[in-house]
Amino acid sequence: MNEFVISSGHSKVIRGASGYIDEVDEARMVVPKVAEYLKELDCKVHTFNDDTLKTQRDNIKTIVKYHNGKSRDLDVSVHFNAGTKEVGGTEVLYYGDGNKALAKSVEGYFRSTWN
Ligand SMILES: [Zn+2]
Repeated sequence: MNEFVISSGHSKVIRGASGYIDEVDEARMVVPKVAEYLKELDCKVHTFNDDTLKTQRDNIKTIVKYHNGKSRDLDVSVHFNAGTKEVGGTEVLYYGDGNKALAKSVEGYFRSTWN
């Protein structure tokens, strides 16, 4: 696995969760950092942030179109549960049984660093 598409969830206009942290601002910090780490491992990385779209439908369609338009081994969309410190945390959603072990590994890593 060496080619990735990473996007921040939501958009600058249609913002995600806010409260304890701002989901969009945080995701936009994580995406380039993860891309940087993967590039250091000689992976090919495509990143995307939506700065302009004004409806959730257009936003998700555009993000999916971007991902599907790239060659990749794995899609990553960065989101945060950010309403309060108590409900913040990590969950990893995955598609297909082939990604279950990877999802559990990522979730375990972030849960251990969050708590
Ligand atoms: Zn989100």
